[in-house]
Amino acid sequence: MAKLLKGAPAAAALTEKLAERSEALKARGVEPCLAIVRVGEKGDDIAYENAAVKRCAKAGITVKHFLLRAEAGKEELLEVIREINADDAVHGCLMFRPLGDREAEAAACALLDPAKDADSMTETSLAGVFACTDRGYPPCTAEAVMELLDYYQVPLEGKRVTVIGRSMVIGKPVSMMLQKKNATVTMCHTRTADLPGACRQAEILVAAAGKAGLVDETFVSPGQIVIDVGINVNKEGKMCGDVDFERVEPIVSAITPVPGGVGAVTTAMLCRHVIMAAEKKLK
Ligand code: NAD
Repeated sequence: MAKLLKGAPAAAALTEKLAERSEALKARGVEPCLAIVRVGEKGDDIAYENAAVKRCAKAGITVKHFLLRAEAGKEELLEVIREINADDAVHGCLMFRPLGDREAEAAACALLDPAKDADSMTETSLAGVFACTDRGYPPCTAEAVMELLDYYQVPLEGKRVTVIGRSMVIGKPVSMMLQKKNATVTMCHTRTADLPGACRQAEILVAAAGKAGLVDETFVSPGQIVIDVGINVNKEGKMCGDVDFERVEPIVSAITPVPGGVGAVTTAMLCRHVIMAAEKKLK
């Protein structure tokens, strides 16, 4: 039976430490604060927002909500970002993406003060990930994968890791972060030839394709560690990952559940970025 790599213990351990850092900030007159920008009423966004608000409360972070109608134009969105940039009481910003209006999204990302960029919206943060500098903040989900591997003491140096997915929020940044830890990374995507073979050869498999049940028993090999980043809804309307858990779990040595795996750690990463931003400002 595979070891279950649950996210909750990793998130709880981190949140406890963040709450202490938050108390220390408050003792010095700084109240860590996250601004959440949501355009429209998408169910996924609201679910993540609720989870983020709960995690912030545990970490001692206050939340300011900026809610715009789905029809809001670019100027309305930019006005909100200007307000956040100018507000000294706000330390971090999370804006739900993708937006329907890609031009407005790009303009908002370009306008946000990189010092308040809690989820890698800005080029400064992304450059930090790709150039391996400590500037900015990595995308929370990519960092959650790394945090989970670290919490369960999974060695990365010299390991073969295959990542399915090449998005800017998960696939690409997590590949860079894994490489920084001296893993040998294979990045796969929709045009990869023999995807199952590329996955089977890995010692660690990170699935971030957004396709329910994509990873079945033909993708894995004995002893493998499987990190399932996917959050999908299956034919029965239930939340599931990219991995067909029933068929994969008996073969591999460790696997993250969905729900309850990477997703549980993502909000803790967001809180960490807000606390870090508040601490930097104090310095
Ligand atoms: P995306 O659609 O932007 O990117 C998916 C990537 O997977 C693409 O690069 C594509 O090339 C690749 N891909 C898609 N289908 C494939 C296939 N059949 N074979 C090989 N490669 C394939 O998605 P994203 O924003 O990177 O999100 C990926 C998944 O992670 C989604 O299910 C999303 O809901 C989930 N997610 C989870 C969290 C979390 O906290 N756990 C946070 C954000 C997103």
